[in-house]
Amino acid sequence: MSDECIFCKIVSGDLPASVVYRDDQVVAFEDIKPIAPVHLLIIPTRHIPSVRELTDDDRQVVNTLVETANRLARERGIHDEGFRLNINAGPNGGQTVYHLHLHLIGGRFMTWPPG
Ligand code: 5GP
Ligand code: ZN
Repeated sequence: MSDECIFCKIVSGDLPASVVYRDDQVVAFEDIKPIAPVHLLIIPTRHIPSVRELTDDDRQVVNTLVETANRLARERGIHDEGFRLNINAGPNGGQTVYHLHLHLIGGRFMTWPPG
């Protein structure tokens, strides 16, 4: 846990969030500024700043994030129509919160490339 990290505070319950799923490995919650009808953030409970710090030992972490996203997409009814999974990394990647998170975005058509 990092004392400065807002997502660690969501994991510990010190910062309120609309949590939709939680277990030992991951927490999923509503993005505070949704950009689509469905916009969830799925994070590891352990503090990892970004994908750039992942090691071989963390393979299961990423797998669990994606599996959780797939399951939540089904629960939200957007699995069949499709959705977007997004991980921003570092300044050029547009990352603003330095605790690894997977965006699950859906419920509308999305264009490519992103801005
Ligand atoms: P990033 O730009 O780092 O990939 O995404 C960070 C995301 O976290 C943004 O979509 C932003 O709206 C969301 N966010 C920032 N602060 C909070 C917060 O305190 N609570 C919640 N639920 N989402 C947050
Ligand atoms: Zn953190």
